[in-house]
Amino acid sequence: MNLHEYQGKEMLNSFGVEIQRGIVAKNPAEAVTAAKKLTEDTGTGWHVIKAQVHAGGRGKGGGVKLAKSLVEVEQIADQIIGMHLVTPQTTAEGKLVSQVLVAEDVYYPGDSEPSEFYISVLMNRATGRNMIMYSTEGGMDIEAVAENTPHLIFNEEIDPTMGLLPFQARKIAFNLGLSGKAFKQMTKFVSSLYTAYVKSDSSLFEINPVLKTSDDRVIAVDAKVTIDDNALFRHKDYEALRDLREENPVEVEAKAVGLSYVDLDGNVGCMVNGAGLAMATMDLIKQAGGDPANFLDVGGTADAERVEIAFNLILKDPNVKAILVNIFGGIVRCDRVAQGIIDAYKSIGSIEVPIIVRLEGTNADIAKKLIDDSGLDVYSVIEFQEAADKVQEVLA
Ligand code: GDP
Ligand code: MN
Repeated sequence: MNLHEYQGKEMLNSFGVEIQRGIVAKNPAEAVTAAKKLTEDTGTGWHVIKAQVHAGGRGKGGGVKLAKSLVEVEQIADQIIGMHLVTPQTTAEGKLVSQVLVAEDVYYPGDSEPSEFYISVLMNRATGRNMIMYSTEGGMDIEAVAENTPHLIFNEEIDPTMGLLPFQARKIAFNLGLSGKAFKQMTKFVSSLYTAYVKSDSSLFEINPVLKTSDDRVIAVDAKVTIDDNALFRHKDYEALRDLREENPVEVEAKAVGLSYVDLDGNVGCMVNGAGLAMATMDLIKQAGGDPANFLDVGGTADAERVEIAFNLILKDPNVKAILVNIFGGIVRCDRVAQGIIDAYKSIGSIEVPIIVRLEGTNADIAKKLIDDSGLDVYSVIEFQEAADKVQEVLA
């Protein structure tokens, strides 16, 4: 689950991470009230108005703007709220902005040397350990830094039994070229950041930029936070931060009925029981020259009702040109699944795309006969390879 910048910053701050302070606003009037309050609390005269959407690159897309007066706060908030923000990370239509973060301006006017760093915390999947990835080249496109000057990106891996050790925090501050008060502030920043990462069960923190001001404060100016969905049951308070408007509507619908569905870019819809078989099926589709349109695990009980729900979810994707149903009848009998497919098909009425059904396992032959005799526009196969060939054939 991804958090909005303002939610991520609040969460980080609750673990002692210093942040650029801000207040979220849903309309220009609220933005002005927020700006006044920030001026009282922080003494700031200038404010940044930042679009709150789940996409990076907002600055480049015109979603982050500096306001030098309350009039400008109102004008900019009015301009950003309601806009469709297009960034390198959104579709061409962009994302509708329904709220902004009004934040203190932390780039002091006349500040000759603000330093923008990049710091992220994530799992190194090769070693199975958390690591802190960091660079002096923050504030801009970190992907370009990784591409052109990879030696400017450092990694610090953390032993899970020891946690982040003080010498590691010092090494990070040193590599970032800091000394004196800023050095100390950075070690504190990195330690609290790592504590926050572990305690919140997050799977990604990306803070870009981390700013060192000329008076040696070290603060998170941006925050991209992803919390591990599998740990959300331990964090009811974070669960409440979910913004369904930012999520794929079909995935939200699938989750509500207990199906595991992930939307993908391809053209072959998949309905499979079991996550492992679902992965293998996606490989099969790729090999046959197609591209999976989704990952969908219908689970053990592939009865008519679930199959119908699953078909309807898959058919919401306009890119789907064919559907491959790949079910292994181990616990559930193939003939029952076949009957489920036939019932679901009839209940939906008209399905415009070809369906290839591969049922293997208990009573696979009876299942194939049921489908063949149903008179429906469904191809039934038993062998994996046959299924692949059929996918290729219908896509051609
Ligand atoms: P992103 O573009 O979605 O990554 O959004 P960020 O929160 O990183 O903001 C984009 C850019 O806006 C930053 O790299 C800064 O250069 C700028 N910015 C952010 N906060 C301030 C601020 O307080 N004052 C000024 N002048 N610029 C800011
Ligand atoms: Mn950023």
